[in-house]
Amino acid sequence: MNQPGTAAPPPAVQDFGPIKFIPGKKGGRYPYCHSLVIDGEETWVVDPASDKDYLRRLAKNRRVTGVFISHFHEDHQKYNHLFPEARFYVPAAEAEAFRSVASALDLMGLDDPQSRDYWGEIMVKEFNFRPLDNLLPYEPGQRFQQGEITLEIIPASGHTPGHSCFYFPGQELLFLADVDLTPFGPWYGDKTSSLEDFEATLEELAGCQARTYITAHEQGVYSREEFEAALPAYRQTIATREGRLLELLQTPKTVKQLADHHFFYGKPKDPPFIYHHIETQMLTKHLERLQRQGRVSNTDGAYAANK
Ligand SMILES: [Zn+2]
Repeated sequence: MNQPGTAAPPPAVQDFGPIKFIPGKKGGRYPYCHSLVIDGEETWVVDPASDKDYLRRLAKNRRVTGVFISHFHEDHQKYNHLFPEARFYVPAAEAEAFRSVASALDLMGLDDPQSRDYWGEIMVKEFNFRPLDNLLPYEPGQRFQQGEITLEIIPASGHTPGHSCFYFPGQELLFLADVDLTPFGPWYGDKTSSLEDFEATLEELAGCQARTYITAHEQGVYSREEFEAALPAYRQTIATREGRLLELLQTPKTVKQLADHHFFYGKPKDPPFIYHHIETQMLTKHLERLQRQGRVSNTDGAYAANK
């Protein structure tokens, strides 16, 4: 436990047999994430967006033959370009988003041409996005083997349509990617994110027995005991959000009004139009569900809680 007033120490490189946990810069917070390096007969990397210097040294000292990416978000593939000779394994359900910026923007649901141009440029300039031509789309349940090491694809949609976790049975290690167990809670801010799928994924993962659980952001490494405590708390944030929303809707409000008040993030973040888009997407998923359940009504674009 952390003492009150002291910050959690940043995660350090840790070995789990042939699997190395590489902490992301900024404590693994956006625009970075934690990576894994699997060093066996071959060298593989998972989500190469942790630490440019570390990954650059790795690229120099090892022949990296495979890069496994959990989903299409830019903060999980910032350093793809360091491994030009590797094959890139990506979720089949969103493979197009690795071939073109336009497809990634479509999955996000960014429609406005100006926003698309701006964000497309950020993806290229700050996240080094370039279309991958040596792609190998993977499917749920598929297993990849090198020597004694097995990597199994565990489907975990919701965050994005193809979002996947990676299970290593030999090491009893589960990489949870963006089921990241952070205090913020689950993120479903793209047009193609699904709140219901995320909930189903959390249900599934609760039954996944492992010795070590690794998230792509923040704390990073969890023991079984820590995972079993963190998962329900993470899930609970969805109900907390819903409760707060119903409270606010005692007086009618539009999605825009709720988004303008930073319902999820609590404060303005840069660039504003991206965060407004995320707020809108996440709010809409909650509001549409509450409306289907008969708990809110929509009159002239304003939502209100039913008495
Ligand atoms: Zn993500």
